[in-house]
Amino acid sequence: MRLNAKPLHELLDLLERKEIHPREVVADLYRTIAEREKQIRAYISLAPHEELLQECERLSEKPLRGLPIAIKDNISTRDFKTTCASRFLKDFQPIFDATVVQRLREAGTTILGKTNLDEFAMGSSAENSAFFPTRNPHDPERVPGGSSGGSAAAVAAHEALCALGSDTGGSIRQPASFCGIVGLKPTYGLVSRYGLVAFASSLDQIGPMTQDVRDCALLLNMIVGRDSHDSTSLERPCADYTQELGQEITGFRVGVPKEYIADLSGQAKTRVESWVKTFRELGTEIVELSLPHTKYAIPTYYLVSSSEASANLARFDGVRYTQRVSDASDASVEAMFSESRDQGFGPEVKRRIMIGTYALSAGYYEAWYGKAQRVRALIRQDFESAFKSVDIILSPTSPTPAFKLGERVSDPLAMYLSDIFTVPASLAGLPAISIPGGRVDGLPFGLQIIADKFCEAKLLRSAYAFEQMVRRET
Ligand code: GLN
Repeated sequence: MRLNAKPLHELLDLLERKEIHPREVVADLYRTIAEREKQIRAYISLAPHEELLQECERLSEKPLRGLPIAIKDNISTRDFKTTCASRFLKDFQPIFDATVVQRLREAGTTILGKTNLDEFAMGSSAENSAFFPTRNPHDPERVPGGSSGGSAAAVAAHEALCALGSDTGGSIRQPASFCGIVGLKPTYGLVSRYGLVAFASSLDQIGPMTQDVRDCALLLNMIVGRDSHDSTSLERPCADYTQELGQEITGFRVGVPKEYIADLSGQAKTRVESWVKTFRELGTEIVELSLPHTKYAIPTYYLVSSSEASANLARFDGVRYTQRVSDASDASVEAMFSESRDQGFGPEVKRRIMIGTYALSAGYYEAWYGKAQRVRALIRQDFESAFKSVDIILSPTSPTPAFKLGERVSDPLAMYLSDIFTVPASLAGLPAISIPGGRVDGLPFGLQIIADKFCEAKLLRSAYAFEQMVRRET
């Protein structure tokens, strides 16, 4: 077995005992990349082997020993372009590191490369990348999910030890589910967004994508915390998220929302039943729950996120950022703006900007954006009352396993529906994790656990208990 197929924490143990050298891990990683990347296409840019090795040697005394991590290409890095998989930003080179990247470097990680995504993180399949689609390592005819599809595929193919993604409505969890890895969206405000190219600022969070739950906790430890550059990041007492791993969850009350499972059939339904059985074996009590406003979650999310996107993306005007057309149809500034934007943005991004601009426009604001905000409050209240009687909530991450490339591109609604179980926790700002939950139709199928805000420790402890139990059984 190559070293890069081992989780980070095992590698750190081996390094600690001086049984291996970081150089060997890096060599194995590049070997796998050389074999698989041509087909998978997880990366938009990749660090040259020699450079990474030097950097790795330099950091070998730090806690993470110079081991490399992959970063989604909408997170700013001073030594790599940050393209957001958009033609518009294809040559954009930030002059600073995002706070999460800075924190990872301080902990002693190197940056392996920048991973592919749906343009500006808008999508559920990585097919909206302006450059190329990424393929699912479990079946190259299928999508890896999105928008953090490159990060998920890289980890699943062992082309990365672990990665960072961003999640606005499911973009860490859904690709984690499709690729059979672990992905966590933290509580809104736990992790700094400084340096993350904004999609929908009231929803965006950066989080870890890893091979297992312990790695997820390890990475979370490194990126959390108040950052004066992000006014929505919160001061929280320092926690070690690995500490509760391995503790029992006996007596936990586990909620299963009836709205999330009512329409499941076939193998997906059988899977959920098997998860419930496992949680019972772990000594928890299963409680049937109702989250009655779930049916409004998709329209609410697409109104709120598109409205915020239309405001955030206004800065890409060919002047302050992004490529400018040099041959606009007339000499006016308006023509330069609008033709630069027309050529720079892809179709899905334009669709969101149009929906959002409409929802925010005078005369329509109350009927669309205002109403969506009120429904968002109701969705949040559903969770508030649920967490009065349960510790965690269980559901599938997405209704189906990975679909085929091209299958949903011409049907945006079908595409949006793959987010049905992930957007409610996003709208409520709650932490949620996707962990491998077995297979459906021969493909990975993720189990989502949602917890109350700032209950990441409980979330990870539950996910770990499930993961260990499943490992024992197989
Ligand atoms: N798939 C969702 C969307 O297209 C979520 C994206 C995300 O979380 N960045 O908006």
